[in-house]
Amino acid sequence: MWKKPVVVLLVAVLVVVSGCLNRSDQTASSVQPSASSPESVTSNTEASLTSTSNEDHKSAPLEFEYPETPQIREMNRTVAYDFWENHFLKVPYYVHGNISVEYRDGTFRGRYEFTIFNFTSKTLYIARYFAPDGFVDINNITIEGVPLNLSKLDRYRYEINNGSGIEFYAVNVSTNLTKLQGVATYEVRYKKNWKLFYSLKENITIGTDFSFWDLASNPDSYRIVVTPKLPEETLYVIACYGTVENGSTVVYSPDSRIQHRSISTVIVQVPDLDRVDFTLRGMNFTVYLPSWAISSEGIEALKSNLSLALSVYGNLTGIERPTDRFFIIFHPLFWRFSQETYGYTARGINYFGTLVLPYDNDLLTTLNNYQLNLFHELGHEWFGHYAGFGLFVETPTQFLMLEAYSRSVPQDYFYDYYMDEVEKQVVSIKNFTYIETITGKYDNFSDPRLYSREAWYIRYFKGPYILRSLRFLVGDQKFRQIFHTVLEECHGSYCDYRDFIRISEKVYGDDLSWFFNEWFNTTEVPDYNVTVLKITQAGDTYNLTFTINDANDFKMPVPVRIYMENGEYVDERVWVNGTATVSLELPDKPVKIVIDPEEVIVNVNREFRLSDIWIKVD
Ligand SMILES: [Zn+2]
Repeated sequence: MWKKPVVVLLVAVLVVVSGCLNRSDQTASSVQPSASSPESVTSNTEASLTSTSNEDHKSAPLEFEYPETPQIREMNRTVAYDFWENHFLKVPYYVHGNISVEYRDGTFRGRYEFTIFNFTSKTLYIARYFAPDGFVDINNITIEGVPLNLSKLDRYRYEINNGSGIEFYAVNVSTNLTKLQGVATYEVRYKKNWKLFYSLKENITIGTDFSFWDLASNPDSYRIVVTPKLPEETLYVIACYGTVENGSTVVYSPDSRIQHRSISTVIVQVPDLDRVDFTLRGMNFTVYLPSWAISSEGIEALKSNLSLALSVYGNLTGIERPTDRFFIIFHPLFWRFSQETYGYTARGINYFGTLVLPYDNDLLTTLNNYQLNLFHELGHEWFGHYAGFGLFVETPTQFLMLEAYSRSVPQDYFYDYYMDEVEKQVVSIKNFTYIETITGKYDNFSDPRLYSREAWYIRYFKGPYILRSLRFLVGDQKFRQIFHTVLEECHGSYCDYRDFIRISEKVYGDDLSWFFNEWFNTTEVPDYNVTVLKITQAGDTYNLTFTINDANDFKMPVPVRIYMENGEYVDERVWVNGTATVSLELPDKPVKIVIDPEEVIVNVNREFRLSDIWIKVD
C-alpha cells in the first residue's frame, strides 16, 4: 500500500568522501610542489632523515643508533611529500604483520607482530599521526629482542593542521640480518581525534584503520592482517571498504580490497544488533538492524525497494554493479548518531559501500518513511563511490532518486504534487545560482552565516530538475550515454561538474555551454506565457495558432500538450528562444494547452483562460 512519505521535500544528506582511489592513483596526483609554502627545503633535514648508517657492524645481531641529542625537526609540505614519495615508499624492504586490536572506551589497543623482509638498506622508517592531546602512542617496540626507544630518536614532523599531522622516525640499524622480527604494542585515542581524520588524510596515508602508525614497506609487497575485537552491538565502518564486525578479518595488501587507511571511519553502535544477508542482481547485501526488527515481510519489502532502485540506476547509467557488496545499517538512534557524529541531523549517510539510515518501529514503516533516503544513499554508490564529482554528486544522485521514486508512487501524485511542490520552492529561491550552491560555502552548520537551507534546496532540487531538462534536450538515449561516459571516465580519477559539462558536450556532439550557462549561472527560471491564440475550423479539422513567450528569455525545447474535446491529446516539442509561435492542425477541437506537462523544466507556474482555451503552465 502506498502512503505519502513523511520526508517529502528536503533530503539533506551527507557525503563523507568524494571518491575512492587506490594508492597508486593518489601518489600519481600528489606530485604538486606547494608554491604557497614560504618555507624552503632545509638540506639538513632532508639529508639526516634519509641518511644510512656507515658504521661497522658490532658484535650484537642488531643495534639501534641514537643521536646524542634527539631533536624535533619541522618539515614543510614539499619536503614531507618528497620524503614520502622518494624514500618512505621506495624502501627495499617489505613488511608482513598481524595486528590483534581491541576497541574499548574510544581507544584502540593493539599488538602488532611483524616481520621485515629484505632489510638491506639499514635505515628503518616509522610513521605515525600526532595531535595536540595525544593520538597514537607506540608504547613498546622490540626488534629481534632489542627494545627500540623512539623518544631517543630525531623526529621529523609535518604539521598539517593546528598541531596535528604526521611524524616520521628514521632509525639507523646496524645488523647483518636481512629478515627482522619484531613486536609492538600501541594505543590510538580514536574517539577523541575522530574529527581530525579528514584534515590528516592528504595523499599520505599511514598504517591501517586500526593502528594509524606503521613501518615503511615497499608498496608492491606488504601484507597486514588485522583481527579486531569490538564490543557487543558495535560496528566499525570503513569508507570505501565496508562494515567490520567483531570477528571480521581485514587484510591490507596491494591486491586486497583495502590497501591503505581510509579517509573516513566511524564506530556505530546499534542496540540489539543482528544481521541479514542476501544477494540481489549479483551483489551481496549485508543488512544490520536490531534483531527485534527482523521480519520476513520487512526484508522482502526492502529487497523489492532495492531491486527497483538498482534496476533503474543500472538502466540509466549502464553500470549494473558499481560495487560487488553493500552494507546497510538501519539505526534506531540514527538522529542522535548523526548529531553526535557530525553536529547536525543528516537524513542518511553513505560511507561508500555502507549506507547508514534511520530506523522507525519496523522495517515497513521505515521504508515508508525513508524510502527517498534509501534511494538517495543508494544512488551515491554510482555518483560518489564509483566516481566522485565533489558536491555536484548530490545532483545526479537526487536525479536517480527521483527516477526510482517516480516508479514507486502513483504518477499523478509524482507530477502534480511532488514535482509541483518542489518546483514552487525552487522558483521562490532567488538568492543563489546553482553553481554557488556546490562550492561548499553554505554548508557550515555550526555557523548560521555560512549555512543556507536555500542553497541546499537549490543543489538538491533545482539540480536534478536541470538534469531532467538536459535529458529532454538531448533525448533519453544520449542522456543515458552521458551518465555512462561520465561515470566511466571519472572512475578512479578526479572529476567535478566541469567534467560533467565537457563529457555531456562530447556525447551530445555539440556545444551545450548556452544550456549550462543559463541553468547553472543565473538565478532565473523560465517564465512562460501564452498569447495571441487563434482557433479556426476547416472542415473536420481545427487550426490552432498561439505564441509562447518567456519573460526570462531562456533558450529551451519546451514540451507542449494540447488536449482536445474528444479527450485525446497531442504532444509537441517547441523551441522557445524567448518567444515561439506554434501552428497546428488538430483532428478535434482544442480545449486545453499544457506547457511542460511532465515537469521537465522548473518554471513559473500559472493557469488561465484565453479565447475559450484553458492554459496551464506546469
Ligand atoms: Zn547525498
